[in-house]
Amino acid sequence: MTPALMTSAQRRLTDSVRERLGPKAVVTDEAAIAPWLRDWRGRYHGAAPAILSPDSRDGVATILALAHDLRVPLVPQGGNTGMVGGATPPADGSALILSLRRMNRIRSIEPENGLAVAEAGVILADLHAAAVDRGMRFPLTLGARGSATIGGLASTNAGGTQVLRFGTMRSLVAGVEAVLPDGSIHDGLAALKKDNRGYDLNQLLIGAEGTLGVITAATLRLVPAIAARAVAWAGLADPVTALALLRRLEAGTDRIESFEIVPDDTLALVLRHIPGTRPPLAGVHKWHVLIEAVATDLAAEPPADLLERLLAPALADSQVADAVIAASEAQADAFWHIRDSISEAERANGPAVQHDISVPVSGMPRFMIEGGAACEARFPGTEAMAFGHLGDGNVHFHVRAPRGADPAHWYAEEAPVVTRFVNDLVVAAGGSISAEHGIGQMKVAELERLSSPARMATLRAIKSAFDPEALMNPGKLVALAPGSRAP
Ligand code: FAD
Repeated sequence: MTPALMTSAQRRLTDSVRERLGPKAVVTDEAAIAPWLRDWRGRYHGAAPAILSPDSRDGVATILALAHDLRVPLVPQGGNTGMVGGATPPADGSALILSLRRMNRIRSIEPENGLAVAEAGVILADLHAAAVDRGMRFPLTLGARGSATIGGLASTNAGGTQVLRFGTMRSLVAGVEAVLPDGSIHDGLAALKKDNRGYDLNQLLIGAEGTLGVITAATLRLVPAIAARAVAWAGLADPVTALALLRRLEAGTDRIESFEIVPDDTLALVLRHIPGTRPPLAGVHKWHVLIEAVATDLAAEPPADLLERLLAPALADSQVADAVIAASEAQADAFWHIRDSISEAERANGPAVQHDISVPVSGMPRFMIEGGAACEARFPGTEAMAFGHLGDGNVHFHVRAPRGADPAHWYAEEAPVVTRFVNDLVVAAGGSISAEHGIGQMKVAELERLSSPARMATLRAIKSAFDPEALMNPGKLVALAPGSRAP
């Protein structure tokens, strides 16, 4: 792609930002910008003549006020690990990237109150480590934890593999500090247990994907650090059996923290593409589940004993065909590495279209089986497979292109038809076409097609109230042309 040329408004903005915030706050070097112009999956490619990179809330406010006056659109960006092209700028170079990565301070950790305040650019893994150092933990994790940032996680209302017990970012964020599109500051960091001052601005900003303003810091809920954990890998017949197993485990304990389902062909993909991975079980099983149980108190029954006790009857009555409990932390990490590498293995494998979907939990096993079969029957040669957060009623429903398909042609012509088919199935099952990844640019048209007029009119009205000039992350979530107002 040819480098984007600066408009005169962009030039005035970058000159002013450099003057006020110093040279580090503006990046115009093409090689330095290039990695941030495409999304993690490589599906979306944008253009931007500069990245603005403030290191403080007031720096963000300065930039937004200037951009507002000059009518320059901005695309907030954290770790750029989002799955829906939300952080990729438009291809016409009309927007600048606003990177929050230099805002990476953990402002406070208060174990006594179970709270931490982290700036938007703090990387999730760094927050995990800092919390553990103080005997606490932030109970949200996902495969991209080495790059994903607090601002991105809050802005996408991210989920991950501990939602079963602790919920998504919405339930883990106790306060938000943000800069609104005109440069004004919303200070909602105080963690109030009760606050009934009408509409909840913090919750509006969470999951807004940078379309309503820029999150600069968040107050996050912490829980006591884990004293011990056990990770099991079990082979079983199908998703119906898997959900029944989860219910059985939950009847015996409230210490199950993760329960992830993986079909055998997805496991095979990981073993093929990710060096060093090994099958956890000796035999062949059509479906697998990864289970983690924890203890925060060393006096409690050790999690390995707990899992062994709860899995024994399931093995005895053949609900579970085989199971192994990791014998060491290294083996536990190896099991998780398989789960966390699925997206990477998928990416290495070839063209596939991904759907991050949810349906009511009780209906998910049937949806996985019948939806997959319906999809493969309707699109011969494709392979549909679903994996992930069964206990949340959320799976990643991936459809691989037929062998030998030309990727460019398939993505342009076939994948959108597959997606419409899958999304129609999801809506018919009472579900959501975005469970945890957001809308970004990938799902704008489908959100519009499948939402009620009431939902779309309300989303547009909210967008317009915060950002009447449509300068924040244009083309994402709800499409309003820059400078236009919602009707
Ligand atoms: P980015 O990708 O940079 O941005 C995401 C969106 O947030 C964009 O719309 C951007 O404009 C906006 N944004 C970023 N920072 C701010 C800010 N400070 N203020 C306002 N808007 C902002 N997601 C899950 O939910 N669950 C998973 O299990 C999961 N697993 C993943 C596994 C892998 C291997 C990968 C690569 C991704 C996975 N994701 C998952 C997706 C991704 O990690 C999350 O969406 C994450 O929240 C994105 O964080 P980020 O900092 O990379 O944000």
